Amino acid sequence: MTADTHYHLLTPTHSNSFNTCFYCGCIAATHDYAPPLQYVEFYLATREPSEFLKIPVCNECVELLKACKAGTLDERRLFARAALAKKYAKALTIYDMWTADELATLDYSLRHSIEAGLKLGAETTERLSFAGFDYEAGGVSQLVAENAPLRFDVFGECFDTFREALDFASKAYRIPKNALKDAFADNGNSFEQAINTIHKQAAEKEFNQQLKQQCAAFAKQHKQAVIFVHKQVERYLSENADMTITEALQQLYNTRVKPAAARR
Ligand SMILES: [Zn+2]
Repeated sequence: MTADTHYHLLTPTHSNSFNTCFYCGCIAATHDYAPPLQYVEFYLATREPSEFLKIPVCNECVELLKACKAGTLDERRLFARAALAKKYAKALTIYDMWTADELATLDYSLRHSIEAGLKLGAETTERLSFAGFDYEAGGVSQLVAENAPLRFDVFGECFDTFREALDFASKAYRIPKNALKDAFADNGNSFEQAINTIHKQAAEKEFNQQLKQQCAAFAKQHKQAVIFVHKQVERYLSENADMTITEALQQLYNTRVKPAAARR
């Protein structure tokens, strides 16, 4: 008896899924085994979770799954998906970052390489979202639940893909895609929080620049030490949230600079 006889062949219920890789939807050319053939004895001896399925898969998935010892279909599918995402990480990033109409502005060689990345990224995204198919194995039917569709919300605008949402949010809120993608990950996978955080950071940066410039100009005009002006203005502002930098400088002038000048 060969090890193969322990397994039930996973057969698609519907003919349109024949010859399809169960993990990624590409053309199936070979089989994956859950658990892997070389671990059959281990799984039989330990009764560790395993389904003894022989699964139609593509050559690439079977290659990626050589490193996977898991015994169940779900575990192996997740492993294959993670391995595909890792292998094509660069193309997936390009796919998230670029749209076809942006390519027109690039020179030929760069455009050529981005175009290739876009195509590969689109293919990989499709493979990663493949949900499997209904099947029978050993006389038992299994319905594969469709994954809940993805939805990305940007202040009330809904998108089916991260890529579309990123493109929209980047243009609508004038934030570079790279920065927005990082902020999305750092802010609970939320575009709204990411955009708010970036705008707040930009406002703070602008405020600090204004503070520095105006304090320096004031110090020069009234022959004061910059550090003194800066510290006083910051103190006034911290005591009064509604006060502007200009008002704080005016207060500094009225309370400290003018009286001192009058005494001289
Ligand atoms: Zn595959």
